[in-house]
Amino acid sequence: MTRHHNFCAGPAAMPAPVLERARQEMLDYQGRGLSVMEMSHRSSDYMAIAEQAEHDLRDLLSIPDNYRVLFTQGGATQQFAALPYNLLGQGGTANFVHTGIWGSKAIKEAEHLFGRAAVAASSQANGHTSVPRVDDIRLSTDAAYLHYTANETIGGLEFDYLPGNGRGNLSRADGEEVPVVCDMSSSILSRPVDVSRFGIIYAGAQKNIGPAGLVVVIVREDLLDRARADMPSLFSYRALAEAGSMVNTPATYSWYLAGLVFQWLRHDIGGLDAMQQINDSKARKLYAAIDNSDFFSNPIAELNRSRMNVPFVLADARLDERFLAESAEAGLLNLKGHRSVGGMRASLYNAVPEAAVDALVDFMADFERRNG
Ligand SMILES: *Cc1c(COP(=O)(O)O)cnc(C)c1O
Repeated sequence: MTRHHNFCAGPAAMPAPVLERARQEMLDYQGRGLSVMEMSHRSSDYMAIAEQAEHDLRDLLSIPDNYRVLFTQGGATQQFAALPYNLLGQGGTANFVHTGIWGSKAIKEAEHLFGRAAVAASSQANGHTSVPRVDDIRLSTDAAYLHYTANETIGGLEFDYLPGNGRGNLSRADGEEVPVVCDMSSSILSRPVDVSRFGIIYAGAQKNIGPAGLVVVIVREDLLDRARADMPSLFSYRALAEAGSMVNTPATYSWYLAGLVFQWLRHDIGGLDAMQQINDSKARKLYAAIDNSDFFSNPIAELNRSRMNVPFVLADARLDERFLAESAEAGLLNLKGHRSVGGMRASLYNAVPEAAVDALVDFMADFERRNG
C-alpha cells in the first residue's frame, strides 16, 4: 500500500496514525463488539468518546470555562446563517472584514436573510493580497458583531493579528463593545490561539479537525442570549449547548475521528506549540522555493501569506496541465488551484507531513529545470 502526499484544500489529509487507530477499532471498538458508527449517541460508551473529544480540544486550545464547545453539522456554510440568527436578536447589523471568497459568502448570507450586513473593512482594493489593519476596521453605528475569516483558504491570505481585545470584543465609535466572530475553518489548531480574544470561533472539520460533516463552534456563554425568536431550533447555540450538542443525532463518527485527531495533536505531536513549529517550517520551505524562482510566484504580502494554503502560479500557464499531470504521477495529489483563481494551490494542513513539502519542493525544482 502506498499513501500519496495529499495537498487537498478540503476534505484534506488525515494523520496516518489516526486512520490506523480507526482501522483497528473499526469492527470492534475496545471489545464492545461493535463499531463506533453503530453505537447509540446516548450510550455511555459514546458519551465517553464525545466528552473526551471536548476535553482534549479544551486542553489543546486552553479554552476558558466561560466558553461552550458545540459539535454541530451543516459545514461552516451553515454557520454563515446560524450566526446572524444567534446574534441579531436585539437588532443591529452584522459587520464583516472582507478578505476573500469565504468572507464574501458570509456577507451574502447575512444580507440575504436579514438585509443587515455591513462591510467594516475590505482588502478588495488590493485584490485581497494583504489584510486591513485593525485601525482600518470601521464598525457601523449599530454593529452587533464583527465577523472575519482568519485564513482565506482560496486566496491564501491569513490574518497576522487578532482584532479582538482581551474580552473578545471590538469597540464601536460610541464605545459599545461588540463580539468578534471568527471563521477559523482552515487554520484552527495550526498554532496556539488566545480564545479569550474572541466571542465566537467556528470551524468546519474537514481541514484541520477531521472528516467533513462536523463543525466545531466555541462560543462565549453571554452570547447565548442574543438569538432571534424565529430561529430554526437546530441553529440555536443555546439549544445545542443545553443538549450537549445532541439536539438531534450528531455526526457521531466524525466526532469520534475528531477526538482521535485531538489525541494525536496532544500526544504524538506534543501540542500546538510543536504543531506551529512544524507548520512554520513547512510554509517557510515552500515560500522560499517560490520566491527563489522566476518560474513560480505568489502575490500575497509577506506578512499575510497563509501558512495553510499556498497558491502559486507558473510563469507560463500553458504548462499548468503538464505540471498537474506530472506531479500526480509523482504521488503529489490535488495541487490544482481553486477554479475561481486557477494556477496551483498546496494546502499544508496539520496532517501534511514535512516530508510532503520536501517532495513538492524537489518536484518543483526539477520541473523548472526541465521546462524553465
Ligand atoms: C472550507 C471553508 C468554508 C466552507 O466549509 P463547508 O464545510 O464546505 O461549508 C468556510 N470558510 C472557510 C474559511 C473554509 O476554509
